[in-house]
Amino acid sequence: MPQLLHPQGTITSEDVIEVAEKESGTPLYLYDGPAIKSRCGELISMPNDSGLTVRYAMKANSSRAILQLVDREGLSFDLSSMNEARRMHLAGVPEIPYNKGMLTTQEVPRGQDMKDLEEMMIAGLRYNVCSITQLENIAGFAGQNKIPLSIRLHPEGEVGSGESITRNTASKYSCFGIHVGKELGRALDIAENNRVLFGQAHDHIGSGGNPEKWRENIDVMLNIVRNYLLKRGHPIRRISFGGGIKEARMPQEEAADIDELGEYARERLNQFYEETGIRLHMEIEPGTFIIANSGNLVTRVLDKKTTGEYDFLVLDGGMEVNTRPLLYGSEHPFYVVSKNGELLSSEFNLSGIPNDSLWVPVGRCCESGDSQSLDEEGHIVPRKMAEPKIGDYVVIGGCGVYGRDMSPANYNSHLQAPEYLKLGPGKIPQIRKKQDLEQLVQNEIGISQREI
Ligand SMILES: *Cc1c(COP(=O)(O)O)cnc(C)c1O
Repeated sequence: MPQLLHPQGTITSEDVIEVAEKESGTPLYLYDGPAIKSRCGELISMPNDSGLTVRYAMKANSSRAILQLVDREGLSFDLSSMNEARRMHLAGVPEIPYNKGMLTTQEVPRGQDMKDLEEMMIAGLRYNVCSITQLENIAGFAGQNKIPLSIRLHPEGEVGSGESITRNTASKYSCFGIHVGKELGRALDIAENNRVLFGQAHDHIGSGGNPEKWRENIDVMLNIVRNYLLKRGHPIRRISFGGGIKEARMPQEEAADIDELGEYARERLNQFYEETGIRLHMEIEPGTFIIANSGNLVTRVLDKKTTGEYDFLVLDGGMEVNTRPLLYGSEHPFYVVSKNGELLSSEFNLSGIPNDSLWVPVGRCCESGDSQSLDEEGHIVPRKMAEPKIGDYVVIGGCGVYGRDMSPANYNSHLQAPEYLKLGPGKIPQIRKKQDLEQLVQNEIGISQREI
């Protein structure tokens, strides 16, 4: 009997063994294709009356096969750098180059980047300007070529919300977007002087925050569109409420209710239409909600140690493949799978596991913070799970986003892990090879003894 890891997913303990026993070994990432597709489907069918575009925030996981999968599901892309735009294109995503992407970046393109940006915009890329400098940089080109822009706003007041302070992108501590109170007036003057029109308003208030705040932001944004952008003659026809939709990684967490958020947005957008005669097409740009729970990090138990007070499991993958616990104090679910493929324990069913079977899962980096279970202050947090033997597997769930892309890969000279994507029963192709030692050092330039 195949034993499921995540109760809403399709990955089984046998799948874990199948990929873990391949030549490139562990650690590895194992993604759940059918689960990713079902999340895409839920988002695309979010209630709406005036059209909906779902952009996948590609910084969350930019593996080529993942981009191809979400593209096939009908999603567009949120790009956070010029290279992400190029990478989307390299993945063969858009039929017409670039028209599936919107660029929302902190970069200020210059030189060749600027030329490339202009070409991409001609080829359909939407540019979401995020600062006065960015606007000044592009205004001449956009005005001359009559290409409408999108504008990322930083609303006034405490509208932001994130899973941690560092993931609130609309608080007074955050610099994202053009500040409505302090900078928007100037931005609108620059636009007017260059005959630039904004066709879309955007904000993104943080990652994994309170869904109630996400809802409130809808009203905040509609007011800004009404009171500032429409008043100055901008033909706003689209509105993006960003990403950050709360996903539940742990059994005790609650995910945002997509239908409820969609219903609320529909109601507010319909009311906006009644008041202004303008129908706004809605955009959202989730990353986490689409893939977080569909990604597993498969590690092997290398060693077991005790200090008397704590019992440690030394895993062959840690902060260099999933840095979220160290960075944010994030919690991830654990699964223990024996060498022969038996699911010994799951975070989602710990009945039968003794209360004193408490383990601290750590990685193999020389770093005392290299643990997969830490609180926000960096203290280790022992976790209840079945006792594995050395050579058994500990699978860390909730690693589909901000894992492979955000972790300090190559720390301690560990090699970037291979990736696999389950497409159906018995169908688990490798989608990224393991990095090799040669690739690790290939750009280094040594110096001769004489030079030293
Ligand atoms: C990171 C980011 C997202 C996605 O955030 P999630 O929390 O992963 O959904 C969406 N939009 C922008 C502008 C972002 O920076």
